[in-house]
Amino acid sequence: MRNWNISRQRYWGTPIPIIKCNKCGIITNKNLPVILPLNLKTKNNNPLKKNINFLKEKCIFCKKKSIKETETLDTFFDSSWYYIYYYIKNGKNIIDFKPIKYYIGGIEHSLLHLLYSRIFCIILKLIGLIKYNFPFKKILFQGLVLNKSFYFFKKNKKIWIEEGKIKGKNVIFNGITKMSKSKKNGISPKKYIKKWGADALRMYIVFVAPIDKNIIWNDLKISGCYRFIKKIWNFFNKFYKIKKIDTFNEKIINLENDIKYCYKNMKFNIIVSKLMTILNEFKKENVFNMVSILRFLRNLYPISPFISSFIWIILGFKKKYGYINKFNV
Ligand SMILES: [Zn+2]
Repeated sequence: MRNWNISRQRYWGTPIPIIKCNKCGIITNKNLPVILPLNLKTKNNNPLKKNINFLKEKCIFCKKKSIKETETLDTFFDSSWYYIYYYIKNGKNIIDFKPIKYYIGGIEHSLLHLLYSRIFCIILKLIGLIKYNFPFKKILFQGLVLNKSFYFFKKNKKIWIEEGKIKGKNVIFNGITKMSKSKKNGISPKKYIKKWGADALRMYIVFVAPIDKNIIWNDLKISGCYRFIKKIWNFFNKFYKIKKIDTFNEKIINLENDIKYCYKNMKFNIIVSKLMTILNEFKKENVFNMVSILRFLRNLYPISPFISSFIWIILGFKKKYGYINKFNV
C-alpha cells in the first residue's frame, strides 16, 4: 500500500482519537466517541486549536490535564467503510453484509478510494467481522464532461473567464478540460431546462455517449431529444383511437429484450435509440399490444421520468397497475 497521510489541518472531518499529555506523551483517547463542536467559524485556520471546551481532556494514565488532537481525518477515511455503517445502524448484523454490487465513480477514485476501501475490507475480514475479500463486485468509472476553458492576465495574475464573457478581452485558450468551478467552464443546466425541459436534457446526457466515455460539451443535439419527446407526446395523444390486440410484434419484443440487456449492462445511450425504433414501429401499425405500450413507458421512465409518469397517470395506468416505477416490465 502507498503511504496515506490521513490527517489534515482542518476541523471538519472525523476526529482523530489521540490526546497529548505533557508527561505521558501522545496516547490513545479512550473517551469515545470524540465529538466535534458545531457551528465553528473558520478563517484559514483550525478553530479547534482555540476551543478550550473541546481541547481539555484528562490523561488516562496520570489523570493530569492534557489536550485533544485538533487535526481531523481525510474524508476518504470514513467513506472507505461507511456503506457498512448504513447497514448496521438499522440494527442489522455486520456479518450478514454482502459486498456492494456496483461501484460508480469518477476515475479519480481508481487509485485512492478503492485502494483504501480494500484495506478496510482486509482488516475487517482479518478480525472476523465480515466474510468477503473485496468490498465491491463491479466497478464503473463514469466519463467526464469536458469544456473549453479560457483565462487572461491581470497584474500578472491568471484570471479564469467563462466562454460567454470573453468578447473584447485578450484571452488565452487553455484547451479542453474537465468542467470545474475554478476554471469557470462549467455549464448550468438551468438554461437548457428552461428551453427544452429537464426530460430532454436528461435524455441528451444519457444519449450523447456511453457512460464511461468522456464527452466534450456540445448542445447541438438536445433539440433531437426534445423532438423525440414531442413525438411520444403526440403518439399518446392519439392513443385512444388505436385498436388493441393480444399478439406481440416480434421486432418490438426483440428491441425490448435489447433494452433489458442494456439496462443491466449500463448501456443507457443505446436504450434511447432502441426506444426511438420502438416508437416508429408503434406508429407504423394501427394496432398494438398493450403490454408493449406499458413496457415502452416503463423503459422510458429512468431516462425521462416526467413525461413517462405523466402519460402513465393521465391514461389511467396508475390506477390499474400502480406507480410506473413499481411496474414490472
Ligand atoms: Zn498523562
